[in-house]
Amino acid sequence: MALNKPTFKVNIGASQKSTERKTLFADIKPDTSMRLRIAPPVTEDGMIFAKVTNHFRLKNEEGFGLALACLEEHGNDDTGEECYLCGLTRLLKNGDKGDVKIGGDLRASPRWYAQAWIYDKESDSYEGPKLVGLSKTTAEAVNGILVMQDESGDDYFCDVDNGQDIVITRRGSGLNTRYTVQATGKKMPLSEVAPNWEEKIIRDVYGALELKLEDPDGQKRAVYRTFEDELDWEKIQEQLG
Ligand SMILES: [Zn+2]
Repeated sequence: MALNKPTFKVNIGASQKSTERKTLFADIKPDTSMRLRIAPPVTEDGMIFAKVTNHFRLKNEEGFGLALACLEEHGNDDTGEECYLCGLTRLLKNGDKGDVKIGGDLRASPRWYAQAWIYDKESDSYEGPKLVGLSKTTAEAVNGILVMQDESGDDYFCDVDNGQDIVITRRGSGLNTRYTVQATGKKMPLSEVAPNWEEKIIRDVYGALELKLEDPDGQKRAVYRTFEDELDWEKIQEQLG
């Protein structure tokens, strides 16, 4: 008797999707535009951005890139811990050329993260929610649209019922990178963008951002690990402890 083995047609789309690296983060690539529907605020303070300040260019124990949260921005105010990395950055600013370079790499760098559904032209659908990291000037331009909508009594672009997409365009690279932000003007309910948005929306954005908080000693270990041979540790120890 032949065994009855059911087989099925290959689902290429699903197969490909299963190997794609799922990431929560989305960046706007050079010389491209991103059309996105920003989620309404998920916290009482009514902020559409979660501001995160990190010190980059560090290495973890395995030698991979590491970003540590700035304690001046994210530290525990009760214990009054100072940010070792901010202190070191200030110190290196007055050092020799090599010190200045490392200090520049290590300085606290803020990003403003918006939770958004991103429009994909090819599939004519939205992906998300994703966390889109923006620079200060870009976040200001996004806020500028809210201010304009407020002035004119229009619905905010992140309004659940009458919101609309915004388009952020990135031109140029390096220091010449310019971003422009525009509202599309086409209003639609969020449920049309993402039918299940209430289940999918990220309630704890800071949690999702996975800030790496280390106490000053942990920060110091990370700098030592990364720049052991490049910095004058005797001098640093003298001035910062
Ligand atoms: Zn800091």
